[in-house]
Amino acid sequence: MIQLSFHGGAGTVTGSKHRINVNGEEVLIDCGMFQGLKELRERNWTTPPFDVATFKNLVLTHAHLDHTGWLPRMVHLGFKGKIYATAGTRDVAEIILKDSAHLQEEEAEFRNKKGISSHGKALPLYTVEDVEQTMPLFQTVEYGAWTQVSPSISFRMVDVGHILGSAAVEFKLVDGGRTVRVLASGDVGRYDMPLHPDPEDAPPCDALLLESTYGDRDHVPERPEEQLLRVVKLAIDSGGVVLIPAFAVGRSQQVIFVLNELFRTGKLPRIPIFLDSPMGINATKLYVEYASRYRFDAETLRGGVCTLYDGGVKTIKTAAESMRLAELKGPAVVISSNGMLTGGRILHHLKNFLPNPRNIVAIVGYQAIGSRGRMLQDGAKELSLFHEMVPVRARIEDLKGFSGHADAGELMRWTKHVEPKKCFLVHGEPQAAEFLAQRIRRERHWDVHVAKLDETVDL
Ligand SMILES: [Zn+2]
Repeated sequence: MIQLSFHGGAGTVTGSKHRINVNGEEVLIDCGMFQGLKELRERNWTTPPFDVATFKNLVLTHAHLDHTGWLPRMVHLGFKGKIYATAGTRDVAEIILKDSAHLQEEEAEFRNKKGISSHGKALPLYTVEDVEQTMPLFQTVEYGAWTQVSPSISFRMVDVGHILGSAAVEFKLVDGGRTVRVLASGDVGRYDMPLHPDPEDAPPCDALLLESTYGDRDHVPERPEEQLLRVVKLAIDSGGVVLIPAFAVGRSQQVIFVLNELFRTGKLPRIPIFLDSPMGINATKLYVEYASRYRFDAETLRGGVCTLYDGGVKTIKTAAESMRLAELKGPAVVISSNGMLTGGRILHHLKNFLPNPRNIVAIVGYQAIGSRGRMLQDGAKELSLFHEMVPVRARIEDLKGFSGHADAGELMRWTKHVEPKKCFLVHGEPQAAEFLAQRIRRERHWDVHVAKLDETVDL
C-alpha cells in the first residue's frame, strides 16, 4: 500500500505538507507555515492528523517559510526525527526560521501588552529556542545522490533553480514487488533568470506532485533586466525613490545583481541602493559564500569573486538607520522586506513613500490574497498602515519578469519528458490549479487531480 496525503499547500500556496506512507513507513515532504488569510493562519495552531512526536523522516524542497515555517512548531510538539535537505536549504532555513521565531515572539509580546489576545495569554507559535532545537536534526544531502530513508523509501534531489538550495525531490518507493517513482516539484524556478540556474528537467515518474502557483498565467515576455531598467529610469527622471518590497531570500539578491549589471554596463548611472532587511543581508552573505563553492550561475563570478556586492550596496542594519531613510532624497532604490507587505520595515517606508507621486513601488514577487501587496496590484487608492489610511499616490509597477515561480508554459517545459500515470496539482489557489489542470488534460492527456486539504489518495 502506498498512500499520499496533503496536509497543506492544497487549495492554497502556503502550508505545504505532503505525506507519503508505504505500509507504515512514512516521510513528510516539506513542513510549511500557513500564511495570508486569518482562517489559514489559524491552521498553524492545529495538529495535522499524524503522530508528530513519533514521526521519523522529513524532506525539504527549499527553505521558504511556506515550505519550512512549521518545522519549529513540529519540534516544539515533540518531533525528533531527521530533516533531509541540501546544504543551501539548511543554511537559508536557519536564517528564515530564526527571523520567523523572532516575529512570533514579538507578536505575542505585543498582543499581551495591548491585551488584545482572544484566548487569554498570547503565546508564540514557536520561539528562537525551538529553532535551536530544530537545526541539529538536519542531515544534508548532495544534489543527485540517492539517500535511503527507510527500507522502502529512498530519494534524491533535482535542482529546480527557485532559490539557493532549492530542489524537486524524486522518491523511489518499494511496495512488495513493485517500485513506484514519485516526483514532488517543490517550487519550480524559471529559465534564463539572473543569478539562479535553469531548472533541471523533471525526471520520469509514476506520480507527479506539481506546484501550480502561476498555473493560470504566462509571464510577460519582457526580461526582468528591461523592466527594472525602465522603472529606475522613471525614478531618475522624477527624482523619486524606487521602493522594492522583496522576499529576503532570492528576489532581493536578483534585484541587486541586476542593478549592479545595469550600472556596470553603463545602462544606468550609479544611484544609491539600500538593502534594508537584516534577513536579506544575511541571505546575501550566503549567496556570496555559495557562489564560489557551489553549483551556481557562473555569471555571478568574475575573477573568482562574487559580483553581488559590486555596486556598493548600503546595508541597513538597525531599526534607527531604517527610520532615517524617511528623509532619503531620490533617485535611489530601497529594497526592504517583507515581500508581501504584511509586516516588517517595509511598512514604515510605505507610509513615507506612498503619498508622493514621484516615488515608485515596484512589486517583484507573488502577492497572496489578503496581502497589502495584492491590494496595490489591484489598484488600491489607500492602504491601512499603523491604524491610519495612507493615500497611494506613488506609481505602482508590477515587475512580473522577476517572478521566482515557473509560469504555466515553463511548468509544461519542465515536465516535457515526464509521463506520469497520475498528476496531483498542489501549491496553487483554486483558480490557478484548475486552470493548469485543464491545460495539462488538453495538451498532455494525463490523469490530473487538484489536491484537497487533508485528502489521502492511494498510489
Ligand atoms: Zn518558494
